[in-house]
Amino acid sequence: AEDSAGAAGSGALDVLKRVFGYDAFRGRQEAVVEHVIGGGDAVVLMPTGGGKSLCYQIPALVRRGTGVVISPLIALMQDQVDALRALGVRAGFINSTLDFEERRVVEAEFLAGELDLLYLAPERLRLEATTALLARGEVALFAIDEAHCVAQWGHDFRPDYLGLAQLGERWPDVPRVALTATATRATHQEITERLGLAGARDFVASFDRPNIQYRIVPKNDPRKQLLRFLKEEHEGDAGIVYCLSRNGVEKTAEFLCREGVEAVPYHAGLDAGTRAAHQARFLREEGLVVVATIAFGMGIDKPDVRFVAHLDLPKSVEGYYQETGRAGRDGLPATAWLAYGLQDVVQQRKLLEGGEGDEAHQRRSRAHLDAMLALCETVSCRRARVLSYFGQEAGETCGNCDTCLTPPETWDGTVPAQKVLSTVVRLKRERGQKFGTGQIVDILLGRKTAKVIQFDHDALSVFGIGSDLAEAEWRTIVRQLLAQGLLEIEGEYGTLVLTDASAPVLRAEREVLLRKDARPPKAAARPKAK
Ligand code: ADP
Ligand code: ZN
Repeated sequence: AEDSAGAAGSGALDVLKRVFGYDAFRGRQEAVVEHVIGGGDAVVLMPTGGGKSLCYQIPALVRRGTGVVISPLIALMQDQVDALRALGVRAGFINSTLDFEERRVVEAEFLAGELDLLYLAPERLRLEATTALLARGEVALFAIDEAHCVAQWGHDFRPDYLGLAQLGERWPDVPRVALTATATRATHQEITERLGLAGARDFVASFDRPNIQYRIVPKNDPRKQLLRFLKEEHEGDAGIVYCLSRNGVEKTAEFLCREGVEAVPYHAGLDAGTRAAHQARFLREEGLVVVATIAFGMGIDKPDVRFVAHLDLPKSVEGYYQETGRAGRDGLPATAWLAYGLQDVVQQRKLLEGGEGDEAHQRRSRAHLDAMLALCETVSCRRARVLSYFGQEAGETCGNCDTCLTPPETWDGTVPAQKVLSTVVRLKRERGQKFGTGQIVDILLGRKTAKVIQFDHDALSVFGIGSDLAEAEWRTIVRQLLAQGLLEIEGEYGTLVLTDASAPVLRAEREVLLRKDARPPKAAARPKAK
């Protein structure tokens, strides 16, 4: 870059002030910038909104040549480049949206040394034509954005990212900086290994987002609950509502509109024009709600998103953190609200069982889901849980999550837990038959349904032993037993099975502490032992 906006001989701080108009670096930015300017490789883990872009943009301006930025977010390249040009930075991009002539112009600019930054989609680098082009020009650095896309078991895996390891072999003298907002140890390790960055220096920022309030509520009537949350706390605010399915997205968006909340749907089933229009409205308007699948949000830089709501359970704590992290980038108070119920667990497990991937993959996915469940059911600080998941220390209480603000009451649920587990044991003896939560609850409540009579379940000793609690309470208990690993769900029918941890409970060697849901079940506090 050197002779452009950056100006020859200018230091990093000078560029920060003159080009970007900021007074000071934030957090680890300065350390990364200095390291990369000096020619070092770097792996940068920084939360969304932490300021990752400057970590490669400034070195690209200070070093000779063009900073090549690899990003999967093709839809955002035009915006990113426009924003840089507005600051006087000479930026361009090459992706599939350019026609031949447009591409030729950008290539010529690059070869003439007239670009500070060149954005490329990862699939471009598979083409020999692209690497040949880069070899003919001068590359200041490679920035690999959204580097977690190289992680094979992550939620955003892109096969093209695997090919990026060759950059280090082909351009050993060009510094590489990999950046991501995903920070589990496993992902970090995969980035380092798969991109061949063993010699890189790691820069890990704090992942705490203190202005985001974390809240997880039991789900009973999700759309109504969402509406109440919006009306009471976020009237007129911009926000994102995540649903698992396209159908859920459509229904929820329609519901909100009917109730007078301005909302638009966003999912991969909508045509590109509609998606782009809805995204543009969200970025431009002040108080629009986007109801979306997780297809929405990656790379979206809207600082004043005041809430992120989940109507379905995210598949992992990582996903939850990424999605909620889109709230409150401006540092002002924001809410992460999640409604979660037993049906979520059953549904997610079924998806896992039916899903693709080998056994190792399924095991990993289960572990991710279990960690997410544990976060939902925890009686301690949610923030501390999330941060410890990322291997970061946190205080015991944060004062800005639901469990810190109103510590959940717990109760001794050993006896009801034993009732559920013994019912599951009894059913297991019926060879070949598979029963889910519904049947267990019917038996506990002593309901003579057709299915109960068909299998003679009214003759079981456990039939009716749970009549002291209501159906909703039993479902809450099953949900918590699942989250505590005392029960497991198997197979496509959502069959409940015992785990290794169940036996001590059945033998009364272990107590089970359950949390009362927001509205504590009345009869549940002191269940009568039988
Ligand atoms: P990330 O890519 O990590 O999500 P960005 O690079 O998009 O974050 O930066 C987030 C916001 O913070 C942007 O609006 C950016 O202009 C701003 N920002 C970044 N660094 C600084 C700084 N040193 N001083 C002030 N604002 C900054
Ligand atoms: Zn807390």
